[in-house]
Amino acid sequence: QNLKTMELIELDKKHYIHPTTPPKVQAEQGTPLIFADGKGVYCNSTNGERYFDGLSMLWNVNLGHGQQELAEAAKEQMLKMAYASSFKGYSNEPAIQLAEKLAALAPGDLNAVFYTSGGSESNDTAFKLARFYWSLKGQYKKRKIIALENGYHGVTVAAQTATGIPAFHDFADSNIADVFHAKPHLTNCESGDRHDPNYEGCIRDIVEKEGAETIAAVIMEPVQGSGGVHIPPKGYLRAVRKLCDEFGILFIADEVICGFGRTGEMFAVEHWDVVPDLMCFAKGVTSGYSQLGGVMMKQSIRDTIVQYEGVLSHGFTYSGHPTACAVALKNIEILERDHIIENTSKMEQTLKEGFNYLEDKHSHVTNCRAIGLLAAFELYEDRDTGKLFDLSVAPATTVVDECFDRKLILRTLGSNREIVAIAPPLVINKQEVEEMITIIDDAITAFEKKLE
Ligand code: PLP
Repeated sequence: QNLKTMELIELDKKHYIHPTTPPKVQAEQGTPLIFADGKGVYCNSTNGERYFDGLSMLWNVNLGHGQQELAEAAKEQMLKMAYASSFKGYSNEPAIQLAEKLAALAPGDLNAVFYTSGGSESNDTAFKLARFYWSLKGQYKKRKIIALENGYHGVTVAAQTATGIPAFHDFADSNIADVFHAKPHLTNCESGDRHDPNYEGCIRDIVEKEGAETIAAVIMEPVQGSGGVHIPPKGYLRAVRKLCDEFGILFIADEVICGFGRTGEMFAVEHWDVVPDLMCFAKGVTSGYSQLGGVMMKQSIRDTIVQYEGVLSHGFTYSGHPTACAVALKNIEILERDHIIENTSKMEQTLKEGFNYLEDKHSHVTNCRAIGLLAAFELYEDRDTGKLFDLSVAPATTVVDECFDRKLILRTLGSNREIVAIAPPLVINKQEVEEMITIIDDAITAFEKKLE
C-alpha cells in the first residue's frame, strides 16, 4: 500500500460507516479497495492497481467508467443551473425533456413519470402511488402489497419490507405492515411444483386468502438481481399480468437493475411483451453518473391522479434534478447512438460460450444463465443430484475472492453462497468478455485445489 492509501484507510476506518458491510470488520480491517478512477470496464485503485469491473459496480455503470460525454453533460447543466426545485409545480428543461423521452421509450402507455433520486425511493413512491390511486377510486381497503421471496427492492422502510431477502428484514426491526411474500415461479405453492412455467400459483394463493379487495399491488423485478439473478420462466410475467387484470391489482415492475439495456432490451418487461401499471427505474438511467430514479405510470393512472384537487404530498428535494436529468438524457442518447443494447445481446452470446467452456471444464459449475449482461453461474458439490456444498464451504465466496485476487470484481449471492453474479458494463467487447472468463476459469481451478 502506498502512503496515501494507508492514510485513507485509517480515515475510512475512523469516520466512514459503510452500507451493507459488517461494521466491526470494516472498523478493524479497513476497506479492501479505494477506487480512484476508471475507463471502460476497468477501474484503478489509489494504490495504482487496475481492476476489471465485472459487476458495473452495483449493476449500474452501464456505459462504463470515464465516459467524457456524461461528465460534459453534467458540467454544462451545472454551469447553467445545477439544481432547480420541482415543488409548487416549478419545472426545468432537462426534467421535461427526459419525461418526454421516457414516455417515448417505455412500453405501452407508460406516459408519465414521478422522479426520485434512487431505486428505494422509487419503490416506496410506487407503493404510495398505488394506494393513492385506489383511494381516489374509492377503494380505501386496497392497501396490501405482494412481493416475491428473493426479490430486492431497496432499503427505505417500505422497500426493505418488500425485499424478500430475510437479512434485510432483520435489520433494526423496521418493517411496515401489509406486505406479503410469494414464492416465485411456482405452479403449486405447497408442493413447490414448477411444472407449468406460466403459473403464478403462490401469488394467486395470497390474493385468494387475503381478498383481492385488500390488495393494492404486486411488485417484482422482471429478472431478480440481488436475490440471485433468477430469470423467470417464459410465460411467468404474462401470467402475473393476467392475474392482476383478473383481480384489479396494479402490477409494479421494478426495473431498477434491468432497465436501460441491461437485459438486451431497453426494459426487461419487453422480453415478454408485458406492460406494467407502474414501472420503477434508477441505476442505468444515468449509468450511475448521477443519482436519479423514478416511477413511470400508465396513462389511466396519470389521468386519475391529475383529477385530484388537493396537494400530492409526496416528493423529494432532488425530484427532477436538472443535472441528473441532463446526464440521463445524454446517457440515453449514447445508448441509442452507439447501439449499446445490440452490443449487450452480442456479448451475451460470447458470455454464454464462455459459460459452456466453464461447465465443460469444471464439474462443480452449473445453472449458468444470462439475459443480456445480467448473468450468473452456480457452484454445487454434485451438480447432477443438485447437492449443494456445505454453507461453511461458501463456494461462490471463495471463487469471487480468487477473482478479486486476480483483479476481477464479481459478487457472491444466494443463501448458500453458491451463486456468482456477473454484470459488466454494456460497452464491454469480445476480448474483455474472454478476459473475464479466463480469470474466472483460473479462480475456479484455485477453488477446486482448496477442496482437495
Ligand atoms: N430495486 C432493485 C431491483 C435494486 O437492485 C436496487 C438496488 O440494488 C434497488 C431497488 C434499490 O435502489 P437504491 O439502492 O438506488 O435505493
